[in-house]
Amino acid sequence: MITSEVYFEGIDNTIKQYLMSAKHSIKICVAWINGSKYAPIFYNLSQKGVKIEIMFNNDNTNSNHGLMPSEFYTIYPINTRLSSAIMHNKFCIIDNEIIINGSFNWSQRAHNSFENILIVKNDFELVKSFLHEFNDLVSYYRSFNNNTILKCHCRSNTYTMGILGRENGLYNDSIVDIWRICTKNQHTQFVAEENEQFIQAQLGLLNEDVYDDDTDIYDKSTMLHEFQEEVNQTNNIQNYFAQRNGNKIDAIGSIIMTNHNEHIEWGEEPEYQINIVWKDMYYRKIIPNILYNYEYDNIAQIIDKHCMI
Ligand SMILES: [Zn+2]
Repeated sequence: MITSEVYFEGIDNTIKQYLMSAKHSIKICVAWINGSKYAPIFYNLSQKGVKIEIMFNNDNTNSNHGLMPSEFYTIYPINTRLSSAIMHNKFCIIDNEIIINGSFNWSQRAHNSFENILIVKNDFELVKSFLHEFNDLVSYYRSFNNNTILKCHCRSNTYTMGILGRENGLYNDSIVDIWRICTKNQHTQFVAEENEQFIQAQLGLLNEDVYDDDTDIYDKSTMLHEFQEEVNQTNNIQNYFAQRNGNKIDAIGSIIMTNHNEHIEWGEEPEYQINIVWKDMYYRKIIPNILYNYEYDNIAQIIDKHCMI
């Protein structure tokens, strides 16, 4: 049964009690965490076999008062890509079944402020969303220091995008072309193209709905299975594109006609946009989900190459 409760007082103790109740795993993602308060708790839990992972903002507060690296838990100090941004999440996943979320920072100072936490149990759809966020931030953390960013002629940073062309014929032949796009002005530079077969199927992008909602109870094991499949799909995409022409692909786009019906029925001029079907977490805040033709002149170059043939 899904239950939820909210706390405005005694937050510190409530969090402590929930942490101590953990049997298998704890994932914490907070801006700030107090080392002297939480390290002993994590030590005790680790002795019971609980796997503990903690993610926090990489800043002076955490360097001075936060958690030191330890064999009893794993830490991920997160750097944001902009100096003005911070990792400001505040959530905790216990045993993949309890979510703690709210305004409360796990620091000394938060104790005296007006704060709240919401605790939700057994909402596995919700747990899965938080697991993805945590997992994505771990990938982001791991790729942070080994990303080489190429500059555009306008001096802004670029990302590399694979565009999936339309599939034709018995073997679903298509062209995947690779473009470098700058983040500031959407300047485009053609890099390479490759011929592919059945690529959308291989990448699991065909949206086959395998779950039957009526018969499956969405319990923890169903959720974990589904979560793992989704993680695997992302990994497959990353691996597939890892060494295309020596280019690491940061995003994959697919060109969509936005006025298909009007085009067929009224003969309207076709209009296109590029839907980003996947992007590397390192670029999650940088690459938009949709590239509009009318917004960025340069994007038309990519669309024209695929659609004006
Ligand atoms: Zn540029």
